[in-house]
Amino acid sequence: YLLRQSKLFRMNNSLGYRFCSEKQEKHEFKAETKKLLDIVAKSIYTDKDVFLRELLSNASDALEKQRFLATQKGEQVPSDLEIKIELDEQKRTITIEDSGIGMTKQEMIDNLGTIARSGSKQFLDQVGTQMNDKIIGQFGVGFYSSFIVGDTVEVVSKSERSDKTYVWISDGTGTFEISEAKDYFQGRGTKITIHLKPDQSNFSKKTEVLKTIQRYSNFINYPIIVNGERQ
Ligand code: ADP
Ligand code: MG
Repeated sequence: YLLRQSKLFRMNNSLGYRFCSEKQEKHEFKAETKKLLDIVAKSIYTDKDVFLRELLSNASDALEKQRFLATQKGEQVPSDLEIKIELDEQKRTITIEDSGIGMTKQEMIDNLGTIARSGSKQFLDQVGTQMNDKIIGQFGVGFYSSFIVGDTVEVVSKSERSDKTYVWISDGTGTFEISEAKDYFQGRGTKITIHLKPDQSNFSKKTEVLKTIQRYSNFINYPIIVNGERQ
């Protein structure tokens, strides 16, 4: 199998996800997404830490949606709505996990493969004129900003509307792979692991990340737990 040889596949395996290689699908990013990712990956003037603002805001949105869904169904609001951040200096990773609404396989393909966000569209319209990558943070390119600091990004997600968990993985260069994860999430939610670029290893360090969280978390109404410690 070609996929067996791929770097991403080996990385998946090393992280311990158990899934069938024959079920692994490769997808192309849409042309405009490719263009955006290309600029994001090469951005040097952007405030690097805006990626955390974007991922915290997505986690918060997902938790808010879960809360709304429960209320709408007349159920009790889940007591576990929170954001967990895990840092691993050895592996050079930062992981942001939420117990929010999660995504189905199709939602992962649609939401993480195409640009729906108006900020990203506006950004692309401006690029090539007088603007440069300095403004990425200003417009906010959402989920794709993970590639400002990461060379590989993995998203594991489980929606309540599906009994399966999926893994989305990409190095941001044109394609992403999606596959089913076995026995991974019990409940629901999304876990995003960023494999940091060598020169961005500071985002796997607690002091640096706590500083960034302080900067961006005033609009987050859910507990943030960093390496097991509530902030
Ligand atoms: P925006 O937040 O403006 O919609 P993003 O690029 O930040 O744009 O995110 C794109 C979409 O991906 C979101 O609208 C949402 O549907 C999905 N998404 C991203 N992160 C999460 C998450 N943690 N949980 C559930 N869905 C998510
Ligand atoms: Mg967002």
